[in-house]
Amino acid sequence: MTFDYDLFVIGGGSGGVRAARVAAATGARVALAEEYRMGGTCVIRGCVPKKLMVFASGYAEMFDDARAYGWDVQEGDFHWPRFRDRLHKELDRLEGIYRRLLEGSDVQIFDARARLKDPHTVVLSTGEELTAKHILVATGGRPVVPEMPGAELGITSNEIFLLDAMPKSILIVGGGYIASEFAGILNGLGVDVTQFYRGAQILRGFDDEARGLVAEGMRAKGVDLHLGTNIIEMRAATDADLRGENMAAPVEEGQPVGVAKGAQTDGIWVKATNGTTRIYDQVLFATGRTPNTEDLGLDAAGVKVGRRGEIIVDEYSQTNVPSVYAIGDVTNRVQLTPVAIREAMAFVETVFKGNPTPVDHDLIPSAVFTQPELGTIGLTEEQARDLEPIEVYCTSFKPMNHAFAGREDRVLMKLVVSRESRKVLGCHIVADHAGEMIQLAGIAVKMGATKEEFDRTVAVHPTMAEELVTMKEPVRTA
Ligand code: FAD
Repeated sequence: MTFDYDLFVIGGGSGGVRAARVAAATGARVALAEEYRMGGTCVIRGCVPKKLMVFASGYAEMFDDARAYGWDVQEGDFHWPRFRDRLHKELDRLEGIYRRLLEGSDVQIFDARARLKDPHTVVLSTGEELTAKHILVATGGRPVVPEMPGAELGITSNEIFLLDAMPKSILIVGGGYIASEFAGILNGLGVDVTQFYRGAQILRGFDDEARGLVAEGMRAKGVDLHLGTNIIEMRAATDADLRGENMAAPVEEGQPVGVAKGAQTDGIWVKATNGTTRIYDQVLFATGRTPNTEDLGLDAAGVKVGRRGEIIVDEYSQTNVPSVYAIGDVTNRVQLTPVAIREAMAFVETVFKGNPTPVDHDLIPSAVFTQPELGTIGLTEEQARDLEPIEVYCTSFKPMNHAFAGREDRVLMKLVVSRESRKVLGCHIVADHAGEMIQLAGIAVKMGATKEEFDRTVAVHPTMAEELVTMKEPVRTA
């Protein structure tokens, strides 16, 4: 049977673009369909715009620091439209690069939505039907908003980059990395930020002490963080709300929820489980993401999907249908850009280079760009002590740059070490540039370095990271 293409990729995000380019470089005939903007979540509404907003928000503290270091600087206001327009120019530029990279690799681009018709056929929103020997689904994920009346008044991370104006106040709902990062970003940009998380501590899954210090640091910088707290009701604020008539008053049973009659659009009235009522300019839901598998024709092609809507794949990213593979967030393995890219490379090695390559999901370093920032690799103390006897090395201190500027911010450096093999099982850093540090410490941990090998490395002085090689005694064993 002859096919139109050797590979048809659905989704032009981190994983899809990489797979298409590298497969085409092997001489394969490749096509890619993208329904929105080339570059996907990471470039258009994820890592890149978010990190640029982290940089923008960081200047708030730098004015004070600069004065402490002897500079004569005046504090200025942040101009969102000025920043936003520049941000979007940068995203346009990056999108152009992605598109040109594909074109330069002879990948045929279809600016259309695609769905599967059968294991070898894709139907585009333009009506075209195309066949391929292999189909790679790389459709990513999207934010989910809780189901409750009034939830449609809120926004998600998709919309935050497009706002006409910065809100004066915002309620961020969620405790994951996206919620916590935006709490810091918006707080730094001068927004009055409240964060609700229904769990006992933000950043579930990360090391407990690191989570604790991040939460404390965020509070110290001004984020009004409420744990064990959620929204009970939300609706557009009415004239009466805006006059302060419904504030902190218990809501009568049977009171209508949803958008009230005569409601104004300039404010969202929120009643919370902690008994407070308040009007916010915006509510941002960062309450999780779901794989983009709806209306993708997976049923028609016979591709199995898991309980959370994710495409089920094996270690080679192959689905139960031999011609269909899936990579990236749509498989709900590890939702990070470099992981989607690794999965793409392994897919091409396996399918187009005859070199079956499983994806290594072990010991993935990652950063959370909260303020303070968190860098992490390997096991948390809580995970490690359930597996084997461990030693914990930990230090917390005020770094010299902050101490000099009179800031209270503290740094945490922590190593979780196996008592038996002496290997460093986990490394957790809360500090400025923790993401940069963990990338490098991650190489040693991935190589299986022992605590003694860390210690044999001479310290770089004066730095924060030198503490990673100078912690002599464990603070505890478990
Ligand atoms: P995506 O990049 O989501 O790409 C999927 C593409 O498929 C999209 O462009 C979509 O429009 C398209 N598509 C979907 N359905 C169809 C269809 N039927 N037909 C055609 N096209 C379709 N990761 C990090 O590593 N570091 C970070 O700091 C980081 N920060 C983030 C911040 C935010 C706010 C968010 C939301 C995510 C962040 N991520 C971060 C996660 C990262 O963006 C994702 O893990 C990564 O983009 C996944 O790549 P992907 O190729 O699987 O999917």
